Amino acid sequence: MTAAEKLIAEEDAHCAPTYRPLPVVVATAEGAWLTDVAGRRYLDLLAGYSALNFGHGNRRLIEAAKAQLERVTLTSRAFRHDRFAAFCTQLAELCGMEMVLPVNTGAEAVESAVKTARKWGYRVKGVPVEMAKIVVAGGNFHGRTTTIVSFSTDPEVRADFGPYTPGFEIVPYGDLTAMRSALTENTVAVLLEPIQGESGVIVPPAGYLAGVRQLTRERNVLFVADEIQSGLGRTGRTFACEHEGVVPDVYVLGKALGGGIVPVSAVVSSAEVLGVFRPGEHGSTFGGNPLACAVALEVIALLRTGEFQARARELGARLHAELGALLGTGTVTAVRGRGLWAGVDIARTVGTAREVSERLMDRGVLVKDTHGITLRIAPPLVVSEEDLDWGLAQLRAVLGA
Ligand SMILES: *Cc1c(COP(=O)(O)O)cnc(C)c1O
Repeated sequence: MTAAEKLIAEEDAHCAPTYRPLPVVVATAEGAWLTDVAGRRYLDLLAGYSALNFGHGNRRLIEAAKAQLERVTLTSRAFRHDRFAAFCTQLAELCGMEMVLPVNTGAEAVESAVKTARKWGYRVKGVPVEMAKIVVAGGNFHGRTTTIVSFSTDPEVRADFGPYTPGFEIVPYGDLTAMRSALTENTVAVLLEPIQGESGVIVPPAGYLAGVRQLTRERNVLFVADEIQSGLGRTGRTFACEHEGVVPDVYVLGKALGGGIVPVSAVVSSAEVLGVFRPGEHGSTFGGNPLACAVALEVIALLRTGEFQARARELGARLHAELGALLGTGTVTAVRGRGLWAGVDIARTVGTAREVSERLMDRGVLVKDTHGITLRIAPPLVVSEEDLDWGLAQLRAVLGA
């Protein structure tokens, strides 16, 4: 048994089997590269589901974290700390908003956005008690809590976790007519991913987000954009909503906000919306902690340079040109995405997406399959052009294209 095999057997014996990871055991990482316990290197084309937009071991983020580790790491919100004001101000500013509600994980941020929208509905919009409805899209992925899986349409994610939380209406993603008919006087929010990540990097039809923006404004409904995976540079803009010139009422952020170092998530909105809370009505022990704020402040500083958004645009154009060329080879049936983010559907004749991921792993490239036929490609935005080209060459080889 190799060292890796031993670790895998031990992990599988003692960890609840909620994942089926590729059989690679990582020991170290830098930039866009991972090194396993045997010293073998792999190009990371997943980037922790976009939590690692700025790369592994990003020096600026590591230094910010190290400096904060030596100062203070946790106060709880019972007291104030000296990184918190800047975090709230600068994150709100990055979003063109006024207020921030800090939490830890993405699912917690979505839950917090649901609570925010409901409270806003009752206190501001005047929806009768217990009647608030939130409209969501089929194929969504917003996290794993009991309320969030209640409005999932993926049986794998949802089955056996009932009884389910009521108050959600599901409409087909990309269908404005269905959205229009779903909105009622009691609708407090529309909750959407501007691009559906887990579903396979599904980009809605042109004009959809702008249409949702117009509908929600007309009907006094909050447009809540879950930009946890699509935001913070991935698509070539700070937010994926920007591709349609849309500013939602509420951003839900996570993943890359913590720089791949600590979980940092947030709900960001106006003072009218987030101002509905009174002390004691919501909270989180670790939300907005000093270490999280120090890392997130550095993430915000990186995003302010615009460098990462530009890289995602430039390398994204290259990625999509290369992937587009595969369409003619009969090995790939669809390519979707924006910026440095792509969903690639593998032709049945080639094999499952899992099999393709395994073959790519053998060639030193790590990706994640989803829904049987889709490969998701989302390298750290710091990946070099040469490394990206090399990774795509491995993909062509594995596909036999
Ligand atoms: C990952 C993700 C979440 C959940 O984030 P966690 O940190 O895993 O709880 C929610 N929404 C979207 C769009 C995501 O991609």
